[in-house]
Amino acid sequence: MGTDWEELQKENPLVCEVLADDTQEGHEKRLNRYAQAKARQQLIVDHIIVRNAEGDKPPLIRELKALTECGSFLIFRYYLQPSIYRLIGGCTCKKHLLCALCAIRRAAKCIAVYSEKLDHVLQSGEYEAVFITLTIKNGEDLTERFEHLQNSVKALLHKRRNSLAKRPKTYTVFKEVVGAVYSYEVTYKAETGFHPHLHMIGLVPKGRFQYTEKTIKKKVAQVPEELWSGLVKDWQEITGDSFIVDVRSVDNRDGFLAALVETFKYALKLNDMDPEVQVECYERLKARRLLGSLGLLFGVKLPEDLNDELLPEDLEWIDIVYQYSGVTFGYQEISRGNVNLPANFNEQVVKGRLYRDIPFNDHGSDLMLGYDEKGRFGLQRKVLPDAPF
Ligand SMILES: [Zn+2]
Repeated sequence: MGTDWEELQKENPLVCEVLADDTQEGHEKRLNRYAQAKARQQLIVDHIIVRNAEGDKPPLIRELKALTECGSFLIFRYYLQPSIYRLIGGCTCKKHLLCALCAIRRAAKCIAVYSEKLDHVLQSGEYEAVFITLTIKNGEDLTERFEHLQNSVKALLHKRRNSLAKRPKTYTVFKEVVGAVYSYEVTYKAETGFHPHLHMIGLVPKGRFQYTEKTIKKKVAQVPEELWSGLVKDWQEITGDSFIVDVRSVDNRDGFLAALVETFKYALKLNDMDPEVQVECYERLKARRLLGSLGLLFGVKLPEDLNDELLPEDLEWIDIVYQYSGVTFGYQEISRGNVNLPANFNEQVVKGRLYRDIPFNDHGSDLMLGYDEKGRFGLQRKVLPDAPF
């Protein structure tokens, strides 16, 4: 994977997101990070507008609407004591293959959930973690290459199950992986085409494999030789055209987090991808499962909600709303309110505004995103039944 934690920490937006610095300084950096994501999202929006106008491909109407609205407003809950910010609303489209904002939130959420689960399993002291990458030969046809990868992974998992059966008909050293979580990724280069691959964190019984120190792409790695060579053989047999497999130990806390970031980073390398290629990838991959798990790590529930965890109810808070400006390419505070502070609340109630659908958050805030009576999308203030008018 060619990464170590110290290197990753330098300005990697996903790493910053995972570290979740919710102090004032961290909060400002976070807004900048989201503004950058929003700017990236704008490139996709611009591309879709042109594409829809040209009319030679199916128009992406819903996508255009969802992307334009996603992240236009962000609502943070600011806790006064301790002074902490939490995101409570704003990332609404959940199209992580198109939207850089939802991609970063989704990745950070997946890392948080699996890091907890892996921590828990590793605490028993019975297992150790390995990081596995399976790659497929590049090609021009993304659907064909992706299906080839996906079918090969299915075949490998099938072989593993068979090896574990009471009367196994086959053998793969992959059966030693007692639990794993994996994620598909696609990169693209104009010269070589699409390159789908898969990253996996696997658990193996402690001490089961001997490790050999190797230098791969100028990085020292501990390689479980038997697992690696066995997988190379199986993978070549299954795919018929691909043999590149990387297996290495994940030996400490930093390596563990680096491996998680590498596994769950965006399915598409957003900043390296031309918007046209990204939209093509979206169309071809949107209906596919890009995450999977097995054995001990099977069935971890991934959060639907892209917001932060809230702090206990009894703390004093205030909700702050930011709006993205396509002129300054940044977020600006436009409003703050708090149902706990009626004076402030009443002052800001917009009388007579109606709204429908898109409940903005369900955390008891008086702010909602929705449509007013003229059909304009934007921030609406919930009209509470006991409002004084
Ligand atoms: Zn989004």
